[in-house]
Amino acid sequence: MEERIIIVGAGQAGGELAAGLRKQGYKGRVLLLGDEAHPPYQRPPLSKGFLQGKVALTDLYLKPLATYERFDIELKTGTRVEAIDRSTREISLGDGSRLAYDKLVLATGGRARPLNLPGLEGARLENLFSVRSISDIEAMRGKFVPGNRLIIIGGGYVGLEVAAVAVQLGLRVTLLEAAPRLLPRVTGPEVSSFIEQLHRERGVEFRLSCEVRDLELDEARRQVRGVSLACRGVPERLEADLVLVGIGLIPNTELASAAGLAVDNGIVVDEYACTADPAILAIGDCANQPSAYTGGRIRLESVPNAIEHARVAAATLMGKMEPYAAIPWFWSDQYGLKLQMVGLSTGYEQCVTRGAVEGKEFSAFYLKDRRVIAADVIGRPAEFMAAKRLVSSRAEVDITRLGDAAVPLNSLAA
Ligand code: FAD
Repeated sequence: MEERIIIVGAGQAGGELAAGLRKQGYKGRVLLLGDEAHPPYQRPPLSKGFLQGKVALTDLYLKPLATYERFDIELKTGTRVEAIDRSTREISLGDGSRLAYDKLVLATGGRARPLNLPGLEGARLENLFSVRSISDIEAMRGKFVPGNRLIIIGGGYVGLEVAAVAVQLGLRVTLLEAAPRLLPRVTGPEVSSFIEQLHRERGVEFRLSCEVRDLELDEARRQVRGVSLACRGVPERLEADLVLVGIGLIPNTELASAAGLAVDNGIVVDEYACTADPAILAIGDCANQPSAYTGGRIRLESVPNAIEHARVAAATLMGKMEPYAAIPWFWSDQYGLKLQMVGLSTGYEQCVTRGAVEGKEFSAFYLKDRRVIAADVIGRPAEFMAAKRLVSSRAEVDITRLGDAAVPLNSLAA
């Protein structure tokens, strides 16, 4: 019988892997199963151009539908995988049918972390949203009208991107963040305050060090009317027409754990994307992998990671065994300003900026032991490749030259 690879999850990583297998000459059957109604699509525009109405639905799709046919990829949308039977190498689907696999790849991504407040259990709230899928955006779009009061809970990239779109569409936006500054886990205070200022200039209001205490619902328990909060212990109530929760992601690991595979903040895989079961791999947002960059284990939530992880898995499935070695990087887009990040700044000792912070064109470099471990490049896309090389090289740098925008970054990276 013809060999069969089944990919569970038709998202960024699953879509890349299916196409990557064909590009590498895989001759067996490739089944790509996804529970959403759409073929694999890009999520980044959801909180940017798609929400703003500037990107069309079909432009989100990674590949036109015809490409799956041309590549002989059996794409099944609206198909949820319910369980894995490792002893028979079969999966079961929502309709009770079973499919046999030779290799199984879990590319199940994650879901938005819900707001965990007592009293909300069971309430189906029509104006409480999160942003993970096309259907999430379609559900909230009708509320994105001028004058509406939007409260965003969570000052991470997704919340900030939605804030940027919303104020540009004329909504009144207040963003609540539990930490004393924005993007606390991923960037330094210099960049946090730059981003806060960027949004304040456009009219976004902030409540930092803010604890959300309660959502005030209407009598029918269908609509949120307001949010009760406390900033540094001072109580406040804000009225809301809609509320967006952007407090992170829960990796979809239940299929793996129910099948007895190791899960620890993601499905545990090695540097070749393999789980402990030689027939099962896991990639993308749902996978926790060793990182050559940090020396520890890491679970990343980014498009570059999904693409690289799919490439590594395709190589593994083709018997080529190429370990994951890429450095984490990410981008965001707010008010047309490009923010690019490389590396992880956790544990940095010093931050050196270069360029014009007031001119919205600068880079922040995070150093440890005189080496650049991470960088945020803001409005200077031409500098990003050199910043990436600098982080990869792990070379010691001259801090004065690093901070001098007249010194080419490339000369430091060398
Ligand atoms: P996903 O793309 O989430 O795909 C997983 C798929 O599996 C989903 O369709 C899910 O429904 C499906 N699935 C799950 N369980 C099952 C099952 N049992 N059966 C069948 N199907 C199942 N990254 C960047 O680098 N830059 C950005 O600017 C950026 N912006 C973003 C903005 C938003 C709003 C969001 C939500 C994400 C953003 N990201 C960004 C992150 C990036 O989109 C993700 O890291 C990437 O999509 C991960 O790909 P994935 O294939 O691992 O998971």
